[in-house]
Amino acid sequence: MSPPILHAEGLRYAYRGVPAVQEVSLSVGEGEIVALLGANGAGKSTTVNMLAGVLRPAAGRVLWRGEDIAGLPAHRVLERGIALVPEGRLIFPQMTVLENLQVAGAAPRAAAEFPRRLEEIFGIFPRLAERRAQPAGSLSGGEQQMLAIARGLVARPELLILDEPSLGLAPMLVRAVFDLVRDLNARGITVLLVEQNLHQSLRVAGRGYVLEKGRVALSGTGAALLEDPYVRQTYLGM
Ligand code: ATP
Repeated sequence: MSPPILHAEGLRYAYRGVPAVQEVSLSVGEGEIVALLGANGAGKSTTVNMLAGVLRPAAGRVLWRGEDIAGLPAHRVLERGIALVPEGRLIFPQMTVLENLQVAGAAPRAAAEFPRRLEEIFGIFPRLAERRAQPAGSLSGGEQQMLAIARGLVARPELLILDEPSLGLAPMLVRAVFDLVRDLNARGITVLLVEQNLHQSLRVAGRGYVLEKGRVALSGTGAALLEDPYVRQTYLGM
């Protein structure tokens, strides 16, 4: 692994006294694709929400390039270069594709370069470019997911956190999402990919962490996890 740009240590979180994340430590190196995996309710979203400033950890540290950012509000975390695309494609359905991107473009980190950035983004997502004047709610599920990811890119993040981008998509679109993750990574963006789809995730990710009941149950390279007997039996049905 390259030296970590993000290092989280001993993260904990509980919802009204019920622990959701009990002890999570993870690192992401510059230029990596790292997968954060696990079943429903394992604590994946809670973990990345703590990394992105959506939730304040009850305990633990989040070091970003050496600075502890745990507990900073999400907009401050975004200014430092970490963007979260939350689960569920939270786009504004009545607004056009372009307007959805413009909202993100108002962030301080994005504002100055927005017009140039927009053209780059439309270069990556030609279907969104064609549909820029269309209400976002009229896009297909896959296109809405692309828009949610595109919006995350507006602020030029160094680390893009994607929370279950393939959820609810047809197999062909799932493949398109994973291809996109590779493509964005090749463009220099470090990616933390939250997924229940272990098989596809471990094929694109250099390394992965598997969460169970709010703890890291195992971690390793994508190839090693794909070969791991426990992973194969428990998550891959082999
Ligand atoms: P999923 O894939 O279903 O999103 P996850 O691995 O992302 O699962 P979390 O969403 O982090 O898991 O949830 C971890 C635990 O915390 C679960 O038991 C969940 O029910 C609980 N939880 C999550 N959000 C809340 C909330 N807002 N209030 C109460 N409990 C919550």
